[in-house]
Amino acid sequence: TDQALVVKRTIPREDDISIPSDAVINLDHGDPTGFEPYWRMMGNKCTITFEGHQSLSYFSDMKNMCWFLEPKLDEEIRRLHNIVGNAMVDGYNIVVGTGSSQLIQAAMYALSSGVDDSSAPTSIVSAAPYYSCYPDIANFLKSGLYKWAGDAHMFDKDGPYIEFVTSPSNPDGTIRDSVVNKAQGKLVHDLAYYWPQYTSITAPVNSDIMLFTFSKCTGHAGSRIGWALVKDKEVAKKMVKFIELNSIGVSKESQLRATKILGVISDGCEKTDASSEMVNFFEFGQELMTQRWEKLRNVVKSNDRFILAKYPIQYCNFTKDFTESHPGFAWLKCKANEEDCSAIFRAHKILTRTGTRFGSDPSFVRISMVSKDEEFNLFIKRFQELQELPYQVK
Ligand code: PMP
Repeated sequence: TDQALVVKRTIPREDDISIPSDAVINLDHGDPTGFEPYWRMMGNKCTITFEGHQSLSYFSDMKNMCWFLEPKLDEEIRRLHNIVGNAMVDGYNIVVGTGSSQLIQAAMYALSSGVDDSSAPTSIVSAAPYYSCYPDIANFLKSGLYKWAGDAHMFDKDGPYIEFVTSPSNPDGTIRDSVVNKAQGKLVHDLAYYWPQYTSITAPVNSDIMLFTFSKCTGHAGSRIGWALVKDKEVAKKMVKFIELNSIGVSKESQLRATKILGVISDGCEKTDASSEMVNFFEFGQELMTQRWEKLRNVVKSNDRFILAKYPIQYCNFTKDFTESHPGFAWLKCKANEEDCSAIFRAHKILTRTGTRFGSDPSFVRISMVSKDEEFNLFIKRFQELQELPYQVK
């Protein structure tokens, strides 16, 4: 009808452009575009405008040790953590970064023992399968301060080290704790996926350094906003120093957009008006992830060629319900151990990330579960076709 046409014209729908059925589907990155329909539903609730005279300064708040952090973003970050219950914020310093990727680097710098003296490079470890960017970032600039030292399970050196604990884990979705536990260790908890759409919120974390990212929380990866909750003021200062020299702060436009969007999420969670039809963001996310995991498990079940781990059902303090994890990535194993699993998917025009990148073996692949609906559905269709092909173990 004409009315429908008007609606269609006024709400630009990028996802109207359908993907050709023979297109290559890239599920290598965890690009969180699957959350786009929720934000489209929010209409202009998240719109902010800037005038030419605004936000010219490098500075946001000279009274704050993190002088480039917008005070309102600080407030909204603390408010959201208090509502969700996933991290302690009282007494913590917040350091904002250009994505949590910049904060990973800032933490490596700040925790390296050689910052204050001339000791040997500090070892950086994480339990395999680990997030593939840690070794890439650690070794990229051949720093004299720190050096990638591999799987934390295999680490047996004495001396200072930094352990990255990713929980829930990227790539395998498990809940993790530190594994080395030696005297000279420093921990960084990367909690990018510790949000209700991915896993049960069982307790607020209160570790020394906790990293979060706007990318995985709301899906706004393009804004490049991350934040660190840092207990020790001296460590926070060093992280701020790193960002000062690296990018003289973090885009104010991005910070103010993040402020607005985090606020809209918190408002939605606090709303107790039962007559409201609007679901809060995490309910939407949880529903989306649950449906996708159900579809994926059905395809995996239809043959015995691949293995997908089961996650424990845990009580979520936020949703007040028992739920299973629905991670942002599927960590899939080909049963025939010698298989190059990513090649099998590549042959069906699905790009995945091979297990070797995560310190594991090529019989594993990591597949993004947060792509656009259309891409995800095409992936499921092709995976089902792959499962139905006759198969012989070599
Ligand atoms: N940590 C983990 C565990 C991640 O998966 C990612 C994104 N893939 C990041 C950090 C970095 O995210 P960003 O730079 O977008 O904040």
